[in-house]
Amino acid sequence: MAPSPVNIMDRMKRTLSLLADREFDVVVVGGGIYGAAIAREAALCGLSTALIEKNDFCSATSASSLKIIHGGLRYLQQMDIARLRNSATERRTLLRIAPHLVHPLPCLMPTQGHLMKGREAMFCGMLLNDILSADRNRRMDPEKVIPRCHLISRDEVCRRVPGFLPDGITGGAVWHDAYVYNSERLVTAMVRSAVEAGATAANYVKLTGFHKRDSRITAIRVRDELAGAEFDIAAKLVINAAGPWANEVLATLMPGSPAPVSGLALGLNFILKRSLLPHYSAGLRSRRNAGESQRLMFMMPWRGQTLAGTYYRPHQGSADSLKVTEQDIEILLSDLTHAYPAAEIKHEDIAAILPGLLPVKHTRLINGEPVLANHFSIIDHSGKDAVEGLMTVVGVKYTTARDVAVRTLRHALTKLGYPRTDSGSHQRPLPGGAITDFNAFLSEGKALAPAPLSSAVMEHLVFNYGTEAHDLLSIGKAVPSLLTPLAPSTSVLGAEVVHAVRAEMAVTLSDVVLRRTDLGSAGRPTPDALASCSRIMAAECGWDEARRRAELDQVNNAQIYQADSKNNQ
Ligand SMILES: Cc1cc2nc3c(=O)[nH]c(=O)nc-3n(C[C@H](O)[C@H](O)[C@H](O)COP(=O)(O)OP(=O)(O)OC[C@H]3O[C@@H](n4cnc5c(N)ncnc54)[C@H](O)[C@@H]3O)c2cc1C
Repeated sequence: MAPSPVNIMDRMKRTLSLLADREFDVVVVGGGIYGAAIAREAALCGLSTALIEKNDFCSATSASSLKIIHGGLRYLQQMDIARLRNSATERRTLLRIAPHLVHPLPCLMPTQGHLMKGREAMFCGMLLNDILSADRNRRMDPEKVIPRCHLISRDEVCRRVPGFLPDGITGGAVWHDAYVYNSERLVTAMVRSAVEAGATAANYVKLTGFHKRDSRITAIRVRDELAGAEFDIAAKLVINAAGPWANEVLATLMPGSPAPVSGLALGLNFILKRSLLPHYSAGLRSRRNAGESQRLMFMMPWRGQTLAGTYYRPHQGSADSLKVTEQDIEILLSDLTHAYPAAEIKHEDIAAILPGLLPVKHTRLINGEPVLANHFSIIDHSGKDAVEGLMTVVGVKYTTARDVAVRTLRHALTKLGYPRTDSGSHQRPLPGGAITDFNAFLSEGKALAPAPLSSAVMEHLVFNYGTEAHDLLSIGKAVPSLLTPLAPSTSVLGAEVVHAVRAEMAVTLSDVVLRRTDLGSAGRPTPDALASCSRIMAAECGWDEARRRAELDQVNNAQIYQADSKNNQ
C-alpha cells in the first residue's frame, strides 16, 4: 500500500532510485492522459504506484487532441445512450476538478435538408440530449453551466461564422461541449495529483522488457533515456497504458501474440494563427470530390487562435515512425478551405501541427479510409494469454480517461486481493483546481495582481495554474525579475520556468516550452522569448553553454513546428 507522504516538491523531482528499491503494487507504463489518470486512481485507492513515461508526460497523442471535452451529443447518431451519459458525466467531472483548465465551449453546426442533418432531426436529438444530461449543472460553478441546446436561423449562422453561407443551409444547431485550455498541463496536473497521493513518477524512463516467474510478471526492465542506465522495477501488477505503443510494449513479452490494437490511423489537426471564429466553434462540412460523402471539419477558438481538423489516414508500421507528409498537410488545408471558403486559410496561417495516432476498427473498402475504434478496452492478460500480473488499457478519448481509470482499478483491486475502494477522484480537485467560483477567482486575481504583473498576465496565470498561481508569485517575491514576461511577445514569466523545473519534473527545455508553459504549445516562440527561457532554465539546472544550445536546437526542430519551418524558408 501507499508509502507515507513525502514533500510533494521532492517527489516531483526525477529520482530514479525511488523506483528501483522496492516492490510496487502497480507500475503504470505510459504517461499520456490514460497512464496519468490510472496512476492517480491507483494512488488514490491506496495502492503503492509507479508511473513511467519513455519521453515526457503528455508528449504523444494526448498533446495532439483537438482539446474538446465531449458532452456526448454525437453519440446520439448511434443511439449510444450509455456513452452519451458517460461523456456528459466526465465533462462535468473535469469542469469541476480542473476549473482553471476546462471551460464550456459553445458549438454550432449548420442544418441542411430534412433528414438527419435537418432542423427537425437536430431539434429532436438536442432535446433528447438535454433530457439525458439533465443533471449536468447540478451544484456547478455558474461559469461552468452548460446551457440547453437550441436552433438558430440562417442569418444568425452567417453572423456567428462570418462569410459562411453555402446553398442549402436552413439554419444552425447550437450546443455546448467543453474545451481544455492546456491539455499538457491537465496531464501534468493528473501526474502531480498521483504523486501527491503517494505515487512515484518519472519521465524519460522506457520499458524495455519484462521479468517473469512461471507465468507471472514480477518486474519490468526499464532504461533511463537520459543517462542510458538499465534497472528493474518490481511490481505485483503492470498496467500497459502506452497508447499507440501498446502492441510494441506487449511484443517485448509475447512476440507474435494477438495485439490489442488492430491498426492505427494518423489524426492531424492544425493550430491556425488567425482567430477565425472568436466566440463559437463550428462543425462545417467539406467534400473533396463531387459524389463523395461529406466530412465534418471542426474549427474552434483557442487561446486567441483557431484549432482546426481533423484529417485521418491509415498509419503503417511502428508508432515511432509517425511522420506527417506535405501531402497530409495539403489535404487538411484543402478540406478546411472547402468547409469554410470565406476564411481563405493558407499555408502561412499554420502556427503548429498536431499529429497523433488513434486505434482503428477497420479500413473502409471503398476508399481505404480508417474507421476509428469507438470503445476503450481493458484487457487482463491472465485470460487468453495466460500471463498473470499484466493488464493493457487502450483508450479512444481524452475526455473519458478518468472513467476508464476507475474501471481499470476496479478490476486491478480485485486481482490484487484488495477491497474495492471509492477513490473520490471525481470530486477531488486537481492541483490548482480548488476553485468554487471561477469568474470571482479570476476577477479577484486580476484586481489584486501585484506590480509589475498586468491583469492580462494574471489572467494567463489563473488559466494555467489556478490556485497555484500563488506559488509563482512566491518565486517572484524571492527574485522579482522572474515576474517579468520572457519577452514582449508572451505572457509567460521566468517564474514559470523555475516552477516547471522545481515542482513539475521538467528536465529538458522542450518540456518547459512545449508542455509546462504556454510558450511554444500553440506556435513557435519568438527567438528572444526562447533565448530568455533557455537562460533561466540553464541557470536553474546548471547547464553549460553547449547543453543550452543543444536544448534550443531540439525545441527549434520539434515536429509541431514542421509546417511553420516551411513557411519560414
Ligand atoms: C488528432 C487527434 C485529435 C483528438 N481530439 C480529441 C478531442 O478533441 N477530445 C478527446 O476527448 N479526444 C481526442 N483525441 C483522442 C485522445 O487524444 C486520445 O484518446 C488520448 O490522448 C490517448 O491517450 P493515451 O494516454 O492512451 O496515449 P498517449 O498520449 O499516446 O500516451 C501513451 C504514452 O505511452 C508512452 N510509452 C510508449 N511506450 C512506452 C514504453 N515502452 N515505456 C514507457 N512509456 C511508453 C508514450 O511515450 C506516450 O507518451 C484525439 C486524438 C487525435 C490523434
